[in-house]
Amino acid sequence: MTEIATMDKITSLAKRRGFVFQSSEIYGGQNGAWDYGPMGIELKNRIAAAWWKEMTQLHDDIVGLDAAILMHPRTWEASGHVENFTDPLVDCKKCNARFRADQIPEENLAAKKCPECGGELTDTRKFNLMFKTHIGPAEDSASIIYLRPETAQGIYVNYKNIIQSNRMKIPFGIAQIGKAFRNEIVTKNFIFRTCEFEQMEMQFFVKPGTDEEWFNEWRNRRWAYYEKLGVKMDHLRWHQHGPDELAHYAKDAYDIEYLFPMGWRELEGVHNRTDYDLSRHTQYSGKDMQYIDQDNNNERYIPYIIETSAGLTRNLLMILCDAYDEEQVAEKGSADDWRTVLRFHPSLAPITVAVLPLMKKDGLAEMAQDIRRELKEDFSTDYDQGGAIGRRYRRQDEAGTPFCVTVDYQSKEDNTVTLRFRDSMEQVRVPRAELAIRLRQEIKAYKRKV
Ligand code: ATP
Repeated sequence: MTEIATMDKITSLAKRRGFVFQSSEIYGGQNGAWDYGPMGIELKNRIAAAWWKEMTQLHDDIVGLDAAILMHPRTWEASGHVENFTDPLVDCKKCNARFRADQIPEENLAAKKCPECGGELTDTRKFNLMFKTHIGPAEDSASIIYLRPETAQGIYVNYKNIIQSNRMKIPFGIAQIGKAFRNEIVTKNFIFRTCEFEQMEMQFFVKPGTDEEWFNEWRNRRWAYYEKLGVKMDHLRWHQHGPDELAHYAKDAYDIEYLFPMGWRELEGVHNRTDYDLSRHTQYSGKDMQYIDQDNNNERYIPYIIETSAGLTRNLLMILCDAYDEEQVAEKGSADDWRTVLRFHPSLAPITVAVLPLMKKDGLAEMAQDIRRELKEDFSTDYDQGGAIGRRYRRQDEAGTPFCVTVDYQSKEDNTVTLRFRDSMEQVRVPRAELAIRLRQEIKAYKRKV
């Protein structure tokens, strides 16, 4: 096994195999936006489903929500985004390149010297990251509306609705997956930082005074989640926000960082947002956001919020990088060569099992198609009858398919098939009737070894 996941390799594999395409490519591409192809949407759906299961199904005290992207503009005044959601921007007067002032070397900033061409830089100015548009036919200040820059606010404005409709008691959480939009100054590194992306956020409402305990609890749970997904744990680390990094609402914040090909970068944030958001919504909406504790003499308080905020599309990039491998192999049925393999956890792989007839003739293709039909109900499947069997294995390896089932002449005689494992390339003979059960067991017991 070698560590060779460069961003170029990931980007080209993602395009070649239909994971991710550049948006509007035929027009030269749209910066900051990407399209998820047939494999990408399957992978994204599975990552979202794994998170959703983890955060809702496995917790009695967390419920889901799907709030609208367009929200009342006062929301963003209350949240502080209109005032504070800015990045420092500088432009080069000579080459017109644009930079985030906090991302260029300090000496360049001090000397006002462009890091690319040496030209003169403008003064730093604040740039609000929210996309602004108008609702209705009149384009005036009264019709301004924003595309949400985070999903969290949709949860806060519904917290009372959810307490009432679902009889939730503190501590409890609300989980949501959805699109968010940020007018990022610099988008690079493929889908790492984009203007349109998806978030998976969970807001946990707790009694003030218990917030630090819950904050630690959620840090532990989120760490354990990535471990369960089979992510390389030596590629994950914590980064605590220093005083100069803390957001205006946060009392404490830790990022889970992943070692991407371009270095350690934020994957998910766990934040203690205090009672900031609900207090501000009380102030701006005039609605009482206090929780009334009926089990405790109707004690009233504004809950503190512990937030876990992960990027879904950034998770997808992490899963691609984490799974990527190249190795030299000598396998039965193929010449010695290198293979590219995506070692996805089988529960995340876009295709779980591919059925391959050794030959198209002599009824093998019909039998293979029949087996695929049987497996379809329970697994996502593929069928491939073109080319040498070794080449077909390679194609499935590169797509991250954990299991291949090969139908050969022996299958016709004794109704057994070959089950081939992606990671070890090991092959075992399995009775056709036991195939589905065996696959289910293998998925459940999967542990990445390489
Ligand atoms: P950064 O410092 O990288 O701009 P942030 O600290 O502003 O990120 P949060 O507001 O905490 O990020 O967002 C939570 C999560 O949403 C991030 O951990 C990341 O996974 C994801 N995310 C944020 N901005 C983007 C983006 N522009 N593109 C893709 N994912 C993003």
